[in-house]
Amino acid sequence: MGDDGRPAGFSISRSEPVTTSAVLPTYARADLAFERGEGAWLVATDGRRFLDFAAGIAVCAFGHAHPYLVKALTEQAGKLWHTSNMFRIPGQELLARRLADASFADYVFFTNSGAEAVECAIKTARKYHVATGNPERWRIIGFHDAFHGRTLATIAAAGQKKLLEGFGPPVEGFDHVPFGDLDALKAAISHETAAILFEPIQGEGGINPLSDETMRAIRQLCDDNGILLILDEVQCGMGRTGKLFAHEWAGVAPDILATAKGIGGGFPLGACLASEKAAVGMNAGTHGSTYGGNPLAMAVGNAVLDLLLEPGFLDRVNAAASSLRQSLAMIVDSHPGLVEGVRGRGLMLGLKVRDGIENKRLLVAMRAAGLIGVGGGDNTVRLLPPLNITEEDVAACARLLDTACAALSAELKAEAKAAS
Ligand SMILES: *Cc1c(COP(=O)(O)O)cnc(C)c1O
Repeated sequence: MGDDGRPAGFSISRSEPVTTSAVLPTYARADLAFERGEGAWLVATDGRRFLDFAAGIAVCAFGHAHPYLVKALTEQAGKLWHTSNMFRIPGQELLARRLADASFADYVFFTNSGAEAVECAIKTARKYHVATGNPERWRIIGFHDAFHGRTLATIAAAGQKKLLEGFGPPVEGFDHVPFGDLDALKAAISHETAAILFEPIQGEGGINPLSDETMRAIRQLCDDNGILLILDEVQCGMGRTGKLFAHEWAGVAPDILATAKGIGGGFPLGACLASEKAAVGMNAGTHGSTYGGNPLAMAVGNAVLDLLLEPGFLDRVNAAASSLRQSLAMIVDSHPGLVEGVRGRGLMLGLKVRDGIENKRLLVAMRAAGLIGVGGGDNTVRLLPPLNITEEDVAACARLLDTACAALSAELKAEAKAAS
């Protein structure tokens, strides 16, 4: 063993490329790997630079290698990584207190992922009705095209055939109605309904925002029927829309909320927030996670929240958002044959690609130009940049996107000509 604890017989760099991948092939990956990141930019292993408007799918809220986050992580790494939840974790108590103070919530449960945060939300809602004497209320209503994660319960909660197929009978207790359809929602409510669960802005579904008005109407519907409102803000929460949580725009609060993605800035972290009322059934022994909320995650989570709650920060997100939106509107104007509109809120924006042109083609053209985005449902390209992007980053995005659209238009024109 060397002085640095390195086991004998291993080189530190392991630079030999792996020729046959042993990674379970569940992802359709782009043939591109990165070596490092600097703010909103990624540097590929071959040296090319890319403007990262995917941010690891809305995860790297402060871009790459933010010095304050690097410091928080490395300082904690030298002290203590993990103790388990058999003991008090001061960083966890601090982050929970701060999240509760900044939101509707009274209690927070920490997880390692979005799906686990949604799982906790589902369990909390079902347990609430048991604890309050209505065990027959256990069903949850959601919307079509939803995405809540890849565990057995969260794929059932989303209800999409493409997520459920091949994995046996779906977990029971989930009903679905068209996105934002109030009448269908009312009709679906029964004496067994425990909660309504949805994303205020559908992410994977293709950036579909629910109107503030509908959000308020659903809150009312829940109140009138003794139903809990669960929001999945795994993607749209943590400052993404220009407020700490997206539902704040509508001026109403949920009973339970799942969040993740941006909350750890790239460190695996999620959280389930609940009001005191909704959390009534979740006492000692009802739920747990070995890793959830460990000291390493909490050091990063608290540092992310420091940046997010810094006075004026969300104003800067909103300013960057309106300038990005304007730039995207100009792209739509310049390339009407390719993209037909912009939608979303804050820095959670989607470009709707014209039907008949696969959104993947625009993503490929963007990558060739040096810009990274994310595909979404309904033939959209999602732009989910770091929340701390600068005016220069926005201008660079507009420039690269324009190049990509021009290149793709030329390609499509050439194809059409060759076919005729
Ligand atoms: C990403 C996402 C999830 C799942 O998060 P994981 O960390 O992948 O488990 C759940 N809900 C929404 C809205 C998401 O965007």
